Amino acid sequence: MKSGVVYLVGAGPGDPRLITLRGLECLKQANVVIYDRLVNRSLLAFARHAELIDVGKRPNRHTAPQSEINALLIKKARAGNIVVRLKGGDPLIFGRGGEEAVALAKAGLPFEIVPGVTSAIAAPAYAGIPVTHRNTACSVAFATGHRADFIDDPTCDWRRLAKSTDTLVFLMGVHNLPRIVEQLTAHGRSSDTPVAIVERATLTDQKTVVGTLANIVELAAEVRPPAAIIIGEVVHLRETLRWFDLPDRHPLLGLRVLNTQPSPEAGTLSGRLRALGAEPLELPTTQVAPVTDSSLLDSAINALCPEESSNTGRNNQSYDWIILTSPNSASFFINRLFALGQDVRRLAGVKLAVADRYTAETLLEYGLVADLIPIADTVWEIASAIGERPNQHVLLLGSQTLLSDSSATTELANALSARNTSVETVASYTIQPVKPDPVSLSALLDCDVNVATFVDPLGFTSLAKMLNNQSVVEVLSPLTVACIDSNTAEVASALGVRVDLIAETNTIEGLIDTLVKWHTDVER
Ligand code: SAH
Repeated sequence: MKSGVVYLVGAGPGDPRLITLRGLECLKQANVVIYDRLVNRSLLAFARHAELIDVGKRPNRHTAPQSEINALLIKKARAGNIVVRLKGGDPLIFGRGGEEAVALAKAGLPFEIVPGVTSAIAAPAYAGIPVTHRNTACSVAFATGHRADFIDDPTCDWRRLAKSTDTLVFLMGVHNLPRIVEQLTAHGRSSDTPVAIVERATLTDQKTVVGTLANIVELAAEVRPPAAIIIGEVVHLRETLRWFDLPDRHPLLGLRVLNTQPSPEAGTLSGRLRALGAEPLELPTTQVAPVTDSSLLDSAINALCPEESSNTGRNNQSYDWIILTSPNSASFFINRLFALGQDVRRLAGVKLAVADRYTAETLLEYGLVADLIPIADTVWEIASAIGERPNQHVLLLGSQTLLSDSSATTELANALSARNTSVETVASYTIQPVKPDPVSLSALLDCDVNVATFVDPLGFTSLAKMLNNQSVVEVLSPLTVACIDSNTAEVASALGVRVDLIAETNTIEGLIDTLVKWHTDVER
């Protein structure tokens, strides 16, 4: 049998977006992924078809011994697999990647090393500390703090460590911090040398403590691993360069947020959460699909007759406006247009209104610019802008599920009818419950999450079904539950779930604003 290959891949320091393109490429191809404790679990979602093996935490809560991991790598590669050995940070910096590569070389198996962003660089960078800086530091050393208690260890020469480089970065040093400080000062490093300790760097709950060799032990009493210790004059630069852990810039820092939106759309909420410093956990509880019976949608599309409208000024059947209530309502509508052998020229002469800027962005992908994007209150703004002229004909596109609800879409249709506008509501797609992704579901059950968001009633009921035996009330009770509108909140309350927040306006942006206000108050 053809032997496989092992990619020793650095996963980066924590934030999953800090993996390299090559690392991601390997993950997507893998049949087997063998990963460590510090690897961000959300990266595993890219290895869709792979067997996932956790060697960082086993049922007895112990790490697998190195010899076992080496043997596993060899066995899986010999069986012809594409194996990714995924390690936190860089695989060769205190990651034993070197030992694994030696074992593979000895076994005659091909391997490739994909470097990663090491926490030794990322932790200082995310704290606003450049490890080298002209006129301040022209050298840096990475050291392990793990062996600091072995004073006689010949590989750990404290005299050299203390004096020979400007900046020192210790990994695995939290427990031995008192020994590290003691040894460095005993060997001549000045006790007023600045020190920073960065805990859980690049993650939403990153924390930094700054002091000097004289007082850092006392100041860092609460610090827990993983943390990087940075020692040297460069630490002062944080006063000027601090950029990540700033509540003004990243008001959602500290929040791990469950996002139950269906897959392609999940990006809109997750992207906003990330931009504001939160960490999204995507667990789609629904999926979007074309409508089962497209006859209504097709006749709406066939009624779009730009040629006739331009000849006669106005065609009875055609629409003056199309309102698209979500990115999916737009993309499924346009894809149906394509499926019927048409293209966007069919929309010439019809004005397009969207519920929010995400829907406008989706339209732009098809070369269409929205004519009306509400700023704050979707229903009122759209109804009053369109209703200004009497007797208009509007096509309102949404999802099958939401249209049959007493949702914002119905509210919009009623508001338009009240202004003498004739509204035709048509479903361009449907939302269905889906099976959960086991990795994300276990992250939720492990309570790695502190906020749960729901953007439609079905998303909530689908989660409730997913958690079948595990009561949804029990899982959600330690979390802050945030719903996009009162319909969704009512469904949750009916099942006995305490709803903490309801968005002030029923849009993703409204939900985000509500979260920001709440979190800013809590932090104050
Ligand atoms: N190969 C890894 C290091 C593995 S040793 C790398 O290149 O980053 C594990 C140590 O790395 C931890 O004890 C801690 O000191 C450091 N570390 C890993 N992730 C970290 C993070 N997100 N923030 C701070 N330190 C981290």
